[in-house]
Amino acid sequence: MASPPRTAERPSLWPQRKPQPSYSQLLKDLRRGSIEDLELSPARREVSVRYKDGQRAQVSVFNNDQVLLRTAQQHRVPLTVRDDSRDSATASLVANGLLVLLLLLGLGLLLKRSAQVANKALGFGRSQPRVQEDTAAPVHFEDVAGIAEAKDELAEVVTFLKSPERYTAVGAKIPKGVLLVGPPGTGKTLLARAIAGEAGVPFFSMAASEFVELFVGVGASRVRDLFRKAKAKAPCIIFIDEIDAVGRQRGAGIGGGNDEREQTLNQLLTEMDGFEDNSGVILLAATNRPDVLDAALMRPGRFDRRITVDLPDRRGREEILAVHARTRPLAPSVNLADWASRTPGFSGADLANLLNEAAILTARRQHQQIDDAALTDALERITMGLSAAPLQDSAKKRLIAYHEIGHALVTTLEPAADQLDKVTLLPRAGGVGGFARTLPDEEVLDSGLITRAFLKARLVVALAGRAAELVVFGPSEVTQGAAGDLDLVGRICREMVTRYGFSSLGPVAFESETGEVFLGRDWLRGEAPYSEQTGRRIDAQVRQLASAALDQAVALLEPRRVLMDQLVEVLIQDETIEGDRFRALVEAHEAGPRRQLAAVGA
Ligand code: ADP
Repeated sequence: MASPPRTAERPSLWPQRKPQPSYSQLLKDLRRGSIEDLELSPARREVSVRYKDGQRAQVSVFNNDQVLLRTAQQHRVPLTVRDDSRDSATASLVANGLLVLLLLLGLGLLLKRSAQVANKALGFGRSQPRVQEDTAAPVHFEDVAGIAEAKDELAEVVTFLKSPERYTAVGAKIPKGVLLVGPPGTGKTLLARAIAGEAGVPFFSMAASEFVELFVGVGASRVRDLFRKAKAKAPCIIFIDEIDAVGRQRGAGIGGGNDEREQTLNQLLTEMDGFEDNSGVILLAATNRPDVLDAALMRPGRFDRRITVDLPDRRGREEILAVHARTRPLAPSVNLADWASRTPGFSGADLANLLNEAAILTARRQHQQIDDAALTDALERITMGLSAAPLQDSAKKRLIAYHEIGHALVTTLEPAADQLDKVTLLPRAGGVGGFARTLPDEEVLDSGLITRAFLKARLVVALAGRAAELVVFGPSEVTQGAAGDLDLVGRICREMVTRYGFSSLGPVAFESETGEVFLGRDWLRGEAPYSEQTGRRIDAQVRQLASAALDQAVALLEPRRVLMDQLVEVLIQDETIEGDRFRALVEAHEAGPRRQLAAVGA
C-alpha cells in the first residue's frame, strides 16, 4: 500500500512559512492584495510578511525603501515599523558586559599567580616540606648486598654514631662527611639509609638539585634549614643525593658560573665547617661525577672520606637477587646463580626491578610462584631500555677484555707503576666498557714528588690498552676506545717536556703551571713564551716519549700472548679480578718458564 504524501499528513500546528519570496514577488503580492500586514525592521533591512492564508515570510528590502512604503499605502496594507534599536542596545550591552567580566577574571588570575610567587619568595626558607626526617621503615645492612667493600668501610660510621665515646676517649675526630661515588642504582642511598637504620638514628635526605631554585638565596636558606633540623636531632645522618648538582667547581666556564649554585655550595661548606667536631651529625653525599666536584668539598674536615660503590660482579648480583627474593615466592627450579650470570652490567636497582617485573608478570598470569619463564620475559622487557648491551655482545666484550687486561698486565709488570687494585669489565660511573684501577702509591701521595721513572711507567700503562689491541688484533683493528688513554698520555708527555725538564730539551720550563681556575683561561692566554722552532722540538719530543712508551708496552705484552688469553678467559668468566688474584695468576705463569729454565740449567 502506498503511503500518503507526508506533507498532507503533517498537522499544521505552526503558521507555515512560505518559501522566501523575492522582492518583486512581494510587491506583486502587495498589489494583488494577498497580504494581511507587514512589519518593517529598518535596522535589519527586512520586512516580515503575513499573508492572508496565514503563511509568513521574511524579505530583504532596500534601506529607506520608498517603493515598498508607497505600494503598501496604495493598497492599504497595514505596515508597522519595529523599533529594534532597543534589541541591538541590549545585545551590545551583554557583549560589553561579557568582555569586562573576562578582563576582570584574567586580571584576578594574574594577581593570584603573582601573589603565590611572592608568597613563595618570602616564605621559601621556612616551610620546606622536603627537609624532613625520613620515617620510612628502617633499612639494615643485611638488606644491602653485593657491595661488600663499601659496606665494610661504612660499618665504621655506624660505630661512630653508636658509641662515639670510643673515639673521643682517645682524641680521635669523627669524620664529618663521606662521599659515595658510583653509578646510579648501585645502592648508595640504600647504604646511607642502612647506616641510619643500623645505628638507630634519624635520617634526613635531600637531592642537591632540590636546593637550587629560581630565586637566588633559596638554596642557601634550605641548606641552613636542613642543618638546623638535623642538629636538633643529633646524632643523625644527612644524605645529599647528586651532590654534583651544587658541588661543581666554582667559577668554571666562560662568563662566570651560576651564582645561585655557588651560594648554595658556599653555604654547604660553611655549615660543614660550622658544626663542631664530634657533634654527631654525619653527612653522606652521593655522586657519579666525582671529577666535576669543587676541590673545596674534599678538604679535610669536609668530605674527606671517599668510598667507591661499583656495579656488582656476578657473585654480588647473586647476593642482591637473593636479598630481593626473600620477600617473593620463587619456584624451586629458579637458580639465582644462573640469573646472576645472565645479567652482566646490571645495577642493584636493575636487579630489584627484574624481580619486581617478574612478580608482576606472575601475578598477571595468575601463577603462585615466580618461575624462569616470568624472569626471562621480565629480563627481555628490562634490557630493551638498558645500555648494558656491550657487555652481552661477546666480540666487543672480548675486545674490551683484552684492552683492560693489557692495562692490568703492564701495571703488574712495570716495577715503577702503581699497584693494581682491580680490573673489571663492568662499566665505570658514566663510562662504557671496563677499567683497570690502581691504588695510588702512598709515598708519592705523601711527598708530592713524582719521579721520571714513575711518569714513564704511567705512560706505558696508559698505552698498554692500545698495545694489547695491536698485539692481538693487529694495527687495522685497533679501536678509538683508547681515546681517553691517549688524552692522558698527551698531557703527561707535554708536562714532562715543557715543565719538568724530563726530555732531551734540557732542564728548562717552557710553560708555567696553569691552575685551571676557569676553563676560559687557555683562550685568554697570550702568545706561547717560546719560539716556533722550540715549539716544533717540543712536539717532536712529546711524540717520541709517547711512541717509546707504546713500544715498551708492546714489548711487554707480545711475548705474553698466552698469559693474556688466559687472563681474558678468567676476566670474561668472572667479570672482575682483584689485584691480589691477578698478581698471583701472573706470578704463576711467569714462574713456569723460570722453573723450566732452572730445570734446563740443572
Ligand atoms: P643509588 O642511590 O645508588 O642510585 P639506590 O640506593 O637508590 O641507588 O637503589 C635503588 C634500589 O635498588 C634500592 O632501593 C634497592 O631496592 C635496590 N638496590 C640497589 N643496590 C642494591 C644492593 N647493593 N643490594 C640490594 N638492593 C639494592
